[in-house]
Amino acid sequence: MRKLLCVGLLVLLCGAAGAAPKNIIVMIADGWGFEQKAAAEFYDNGGESKFFDWMTPLAMSTYSATGTGYDPALAWSDFAYVKNRPTDSAASATALSTGVRTKNGMIGVDPDGKPLRHIYQAAEDKGKSTGLVTSVLLAHATPAGFSAHDSKRGNYEAISQQMITETPIDVIMGAGHPEYDGSGKKLTPDKTNDKQYQVVGGKTIWDGLKKSSVGADADADGSPDPWALIETRDQFQALGAGDTPKRVLGVAEVDTTLQQERGGDKKAGPFQEPLTETVPTLAEMVRGALNVLDNDPDGLFLMVEGGAVDWAGHDSQSGRNIEEQLAFRDAVAVVKEWVEKNSSWDDTLLVVTADHETGYLTGPANEAEWAPVENKGKGQLPGMKWNSGEHTNSLVPLFVKGADSEAIVAKAVSEDPKRGKYLHSTELSQTLHQLWK
Ligand SMILES: [Zn+2]
Repeated sequence: MRKLLCVGLLVLLCGAAGAAPKNIIVMIADGWGFEQKAAAEFYDNGGESKFFDWMTPLAMSTYSATGTGYDPALAWSDFAYVKNRPTDSAASATALSTGVRTKNGMIGVDPDGKPLRHIYQAAEDKGKSTGLVTSVLLAHATPAGFSAHDSKRGNYEAISQQMITETPIDVIMGAGHPEYDGSGKKLTPDKTNDKQYQVVGGKTIWDGLKKSSVGADADADGSPDPWALIETRDQFQALGAGDTPKRVLGVAEVDTTLQQERGGDKKAGPFQEPLTETVPTLAEMVRGALNVLDNDPDGLFLMVEGGAVDWAGHDSQSGRNIEEQLAFRDAVAVVKEWVEKNSSWDDTLLVVTADHETGYLTGPANEAEWAPVENKGKGQLPGMKWNSGEHTNSLVPLFVKGADSEAIVAKAVSEDPKRGKYLHSTELSQTLHQLWK
C-alpha cells in the first residue's frame, strides 16, 4: 500500500520515510524446532491449524563459529549428525543481533572478543525506542546477546550492569527477582536468593532501582533517565493501556522463569499443574512493552524471547515445552494485534524464529531413527521422543511478515528436502542491519 501511494510529488517524501521499516520486532522461541511446533499444534487444535500461517514460512540454520555447519543430505541420512557441536544461546543471540558468527558462550563480541554492533544500536542511532522482553532471567543469554558485550555469558552481574546502567534501552522485562522462588512465593529476608541479585545488576543497583535512582541517558539529551521498576502482575497488566513511564524495567516476582520452573510434577502434561498466577504472561509483558515503546514517533525495535521452551527441552518436559510454546504463540498474537491496530504491515517488520533446536525431538521411532511427532488429537499429549538433553544443529522455523520481509525471503536460497528454503541466522541479521543502515 505504501508503495502504491508513493506516486508523483509524493515520491520524494515517501522515499525518505519508506526506505526502511519503521519498526522491527524479532521474536525468538529459544530451543524451538519444527517438531516442537507440530507437537504444540497437535495439542492445541489436533493439527487443524498451524501457528503463524499468516506469515511467510522459511527455515534457518544456526551453527556458531564453534560448529560444523549444516548439510541437509547428512542431516537426513545420519541420525547423529545434527548433534555435532551445536550453537549455544549466547553465540546464536549474538549472530541474530549483530550478523556475526561467534564462539559459544560469547555475548555481543566476535571470536577475538571485539565488541560488535547490536541491531538495537542501529535503532537507537535512528532515534527509535528499544526493548527486550524475556520469560527467563532478564540477563540470560538471549537478551544479553542482543544488548551487552562480554566474552563470557556467565558474567551475569557485569552483563546486567551494562544492560541496566549503560545502555539507552527503554524497556527490559524478564524473570530473576531476588526475593521470590521459582513458584512465585515470597522468600523471607534471610532466604533471599543472593545469587539472583547478579541478574539485576547486583544488590546496590537493585536497591537503587527500588528508589528509581538508577538509569542511563536514554534520549541523548545529556541527563540520565531513571528506570521505573515494576514487579507485580497488576503493574505489568496496567502498563498495557494508557499513559506509561518513559523507561520501564520489569522484574516479575519469580526466580528463574515465569512458569517453567514452578513446582509440582515437572513431567506432567500441559497445564495439569496450576500456573503461577502472580506473574505476568509473556503476552502481558509484550503488550506493556509495546505501549511504552510506541510513544516514540520515530519507531521501535523490540526483541521478545520465549526463553523456557529451551529449558523444558533440556529436561525432556513434553508438557511444559508445549505450555511455553502456547505462551509464546499468545505473545506473537499480541504483536499482530498491535501492528494491525497501532501500526501497519507497511511500517512494521515481524520476524518469528528460534536460536537453535533443543532436545532433538522426534516422534516415537526405533532407536536412532527420525520420525515426525505423532498427533494424538486436541488436548492430548502427542507422541514425542527426546533424543538429546542438549541443543542440535537442526534447522529451526523462521516466519517473516511486513515491511521489507521480501529482503529476508530473497536471502533464503539454500534448500532442505524436509524444511524447504533456508538461510543462516547471520544472513537474517545482516539483512536487518542493511535495512537500518
Ligand atoms: Zn539451551
